[in-house]
Amino acid sequence: MALLEIKTAGDPVLKQPCAPVEKIDKRFRNFLDDMAETMYASDGVGIAAPQVGVSLRACIVDVSARDGGESDKKARYDMINPVITHREGSVVDNEGCLSCPNLFGDVERAEKIRVEYISRFGKKKILDADGLLARCIQHELDHLDGKLFIDIAQNITKGRPKHE
Ligand SMILES: [Zn+2]
Repeated sequence: MALLEIKTAGDPVLKQPCAPVEKIDKRFRNFLDDMAETMYASDGVGIAAPQVGVSLRACIVDVSARDGGESDKKARYDMINPVITHREGSVVDNEGCLSCPNLFGDVERAEKIRVEYISRFGKKKILDADGLLARCIQHELDHLDGKLFIDIAQNITKGRPKHE
């Protein structure tokens, strides 16, 4: 495995809508592992392929380090070609992003979502998520559409997030 370079705001790859993943092979699974390693090394809870310069619809999410151990669900999700098929409720909370170092802001997101995606082994999956997991998935899927949270956030501050 290897650490990948994280692209930061201003890099055009972050503004570009990503293409669907067409081929899931060992090479691509290695890339997913590298993305995950890069995310964990940066203390992140999610990372999307364009954040490491690859314009494909894939992301990794693992909020287990931040949700106080309340989640009884599997920790790491490798999501390929994810699509949100249901949204419910709305909640505002503070967010940050590995591509926007030291910036935090309040973002309104759906409270609960259903997401459909392809697993790293090519299986169709459906996941119902709420709380931080739902927020993180919505944040990562925005990356796949070339959107950054700082474009939609309110009360952007520099420094530590409000809830830490
Ligand atoms: Zn982000």
